[in-house]
Amino acid sequence: MLEVKGVKTYYLTDEGQVKAVDGVSFAMERGETLGLAGESGCGKTTLALTITRLLPRNARVISGEIYFDGVEILSLDEEEFRKIRWKDISIIFQEAMNALNPVRRVGDQIVEAILLHENVAREEAVDRVMNALEMVGIDRERFWHYPHEFSGGMRQRALIAMALVCNPKLVIADEPVTALDVMVRAQVLKLIKELQSKMDLSMILITHDLSVIAETCDRVAIMYAGKIVEIGDVISIFKDPKHPYTKGLVKAFPSIYGPRELPASISGTPPDLLNPPSGCRFHPRCPHVMDICKVEEPEMKRINGKQYVACHLY
Ligand code: SF4
Repeated sequence: MLEVKGVKTYYLTDEGQVKAVDGVSFAMERGETLGLAGESGCGKTTLALTITRLLPRNARVISGEIYFDGVEILSLDEEEFRKIRWKDISIIFQEAMNALNPVRRVGDQIVEAILLHENVAREEAVDRVMNALEMVGIDRERFWHYPHEFSGGMRQRALIAMALVCNPKLVIADEPVTALDVMVRAQVLKLIKELQSKMDLSMILITHDLSVIAETCDRVAIMYAGKIVEIGDVISIFKDPKHPYTKGLVKAFPSIYGPRELPASISGTPPDLLNPPSGCRFHPRCPHVMDICKVEEPEMKRINGKQYVACHLY
């Protein structure tokens, strides 16, 4: 359903080009949930904005192709892509308070998403939005309320309703639960899972929190410094991670069953994407670094079944 091939998206700044997404490739099947994980600044959100073509003005897609249902969407003109955005591919933004307009009623903002993409009467759109609010556990009458009258969890649910109201095939959820407290977060994750199976949705779930991926995804792609370094089914990656960075991420996650000890951290800091390290971008932080890692970029190799890794150790 979705195939991303060698996509590079750079930001043009006064200091130079920030290589936020630098040669990313993956494919997704219909009904699948793919988790996209990595530290802040590794390019996850830029990749989401590239697929939805909502990049800021100073960003450029330098190369690559994105096929959605067989159609290359990066080469469509804006008018053609508008028919796809929201109707076929929608996005749940992070920071629900910032994503909603504070001076407009929540219901009206969701109605607008329908009216922009479908030729329906306003009354029908209002009814559909009230149904969508109910579907995400919000009372229909809340349609008439403003964002400040919603709690954080309700605002996030409203954004989920907005993303689903046109029955898209693919939803990209960008850190959908990061700003929520732990109880509300569990409820919203449960809701996402239920809606996904009920509507047979494909989903890309972006998060830096591996527990969210473990609970909701079929496969996971680990991003580091603008590249996917490992991709595979969730169980293989959690039980037997191959890339040293993935191993570090999994170790940094506290176990609720094992002995109570401080989780390990990955030494060093993420690289500056204006001047990323040569060869393997993880080499300055990697405990297994070899000479070849500093000069040659590792290719993605299949390790077993559906697990692929880009590392010279394999
Ligand atoms: Fe470490 Fe080398 Fe593998 Fe990069 S390629 S993760 S530096 S062993």
